[in-house]
Amino acid sequence: MKTITKANMMDAIAILAQDAQVLVPMTVDGISKFSLWGSEGTLAFSAVNTLLPPKDSLFPQTEKMYSYQVENQTITSLDIHNEAKQQIIFGIRPCDMQSIQCMDDVFLTKTFVDDFYRVKREKLITVCIGCNKTAPTCFCESMGGSPAGHGAADIQLCDLGNSYSIVAQTAAGQAVVEKWQGLVRDEEGSVPEVSCTLKVDAQGLPAQLSKMFNHPIWQEVSRKCIGCGTCTYLCPTCYCFDIDVQNNGNEGYRFRCWDSCMFSDYARMAGGHDPRPSKNERIRNRFLHKLEYFNERYGKNLCVGCGRCLTKCPVHVDITLFIDKVKEVSSIESVQL
Ligand code: SF4
Ligand code: SF4
Repeated sequence: MKTITKANMMDAIAILAQDAQVLVPMTVDGISKFSLWGSEGTLAFSAVNTLLPPKDSLFPQTEKMYSYQVENQTITSLDIHNEAKQQIIFGIRPCDMQSIQCMDDVFLTKTFVDDFYRVKREKLITVCIGCNKTAPTCFCESMGGSPAGHGAADIQLCDLGNSYSIVAQTAAGQAVVEKWQGLVRDEEGSVPEVSCTLKVDAQGLPAQLSKMFNHPIWQEVSRKCIGCGTCTYLCPTCYCFDIDVQNNGNEGYRFRCWDSCMFSDYARMAGGHDPRPSKNERIRNRFLHKLEYFNERYGKNLCVGCGRCLTKCPVHVDITLFIDKVKEVSSIESVQL
């Protein structure tokens, strides 16, 4: 197999940074996230995963969409901000790679293409590192993934201890590996097998949930939620956004920024009506979107099993315990029928 030593990997990243923005896992001010190679912080390649997912490289938390100038009520200039630089996410984990596939579905398919997302996606190269250990909160296998890697990444690396195995999975990945001539070598080796300890049974979940819209389970699961939105902001697949305008007289700009379906005013309409007036409806919408609706529309779960919401929800609302509960309820109720 083709491999590269961990020491040489730093040189390999430096080569890529000559003509692209390379984002690597780093700890900055105590928060692990994907940051620009060479910026201030500590490299965190050995972390199981970063606290913040890399989704903002494609879908920034705040994004200027266009700027305008007006004179006498006539638009004199309009600049659309949809240019993108070449980006490489180096060290993305398989669950987060799967989350990019979910975002691709949303922003690029079903007859709708979001140009702000598309330009960034077309200039993105992904280098995935398979996990050689899992956290107690990782459950990607149960959601259809694998800690070993992801077939959609341009390059798949696997941690062999002192080196990484390298497999280029796309033409863009192959072009990157060619830049590493002299750093890559051939050696014998085997990829370690890793499995998640946390498991849930997600088989048949969309069909079961489709019968539970009015089930009392939603009261139970939403009881503790304080509506802080942490789960949605940390989730690699949550993609809700709001659009607003900053108007400074004769000029201004329109921007979009992340929103959260867990916020109390998220679904409120201009006339004041709110179809999701309580946390009961909001949690139901979030979990049904993750585990039923997205499956019905795109054929996959919108939860990739990264475990971030389990770890950081301040009141321990846990999507894996919810799935267990659905299974328990479904089996009891189908027996009673
Ligand atoms: S719902 Fe939770 S576990 Fe699932 S992808 Fe989002 S943050 Fe990760
Ligand atoms: S992180 Fe927990 S408390 Fe906060 S909105 Fe999400 S489920 Fe509710």
